[in-house]
Amino acid sequence: MRFKFLITSLTSCTGCISALISLDIFPQFLERTKIEYFPFISDNLEIKECDVALVEGCVSEKNQIEYLQEIRKNAKKLYALGTCSAFGGILSLSNIKESYPISKFVEVDGIIPGCPPPSILLGNCLLRLVENKKIKLSLKNMCSTCPLNNQAKIDLPLTIDKIVPRNDEIRFPEENLSCFLNDGILCLGPVTRDGCDHLCINQGLPCEGCLGPVSKGFTSNLINFLSLFNLSKDLRKYKGIFYRFSKSHVGGKD
Ligand code: SF4
Ligand code: SF4
Repeated sequence: MRFKFLITSLTSCTGCISALISLDIFPQFLERTKIEYFPFISDNLEIKECDVALVEGCVSEKNQIEYLQEIRKNAKKLYALGTCSAFGGILSLSNIKESYPISKFVEVDGIIPGCPPPSILLGNCLLRLVENKKIKLSLKNMCSTCPLNNQAKIDLPLTIDKIVPRNDEIRFPEENLSCFLNDGILCLGPVTRDGCDHLCINQGLPCEGCLGPVSKGFTSNLINFLSLFNLSKDLRKYKGIFYRFSKSHVGGKD
């Protein structure tokens, strides 16, 4: 039996859908499923009953709520695709627009996190959904597998005064065996779910948290984590530390 899929976007940059379409296994995914609704690649604009709905993007307009509820009514399972959909994401930094994760308005069965979701994670999730299996996400934090994890050597309290290294400070794991925190650079690895194979860290950048919180008490965990450091004034004012990943009902039922 071929599972019926619905794939769509709310307010987004379409990066998650682009990541999905670019997967090596996307042709295989199309062969093994029946796509009932996917405005990105199809003219069919009628929402039909489906087994799995994947929704990218956050809710930022009133009319999206009704649209989302219509999708929920027609989908046996509904998954938030990407960080905007799961947690509010980048639009949460706006002073003009509201942004909400879809779980504020409809029940979700799970999330596929990431901005966009890393290809290995996304491909594995799709294959599991096609086989009617639950999505499995890591229950560990990013530090647990990080090649720079030498936190035992961190002398607290440290002063953290940067969210990214300066250009001349960028060092790759093979030449930098020191945790970013040791260099006074904010890395959200301790409160972020593992599962991206350290894409940013391997490029010399700290984790900014796009896979979202590893546990439901994200805000309190983050406050506890940040309270270990002397945060510079600029960073204390940077609301993005809290807002991008803090509005969700983490993880849905899976
Ligand atoms: S999660 Fe990232 S890639 Fe996906 S729609 Fe939002 S901003 Fe774009
Ligand atoms: S804080 Fe960042 S750099 Fe340090 S171990 Fe954790 S993920 Fe790696």
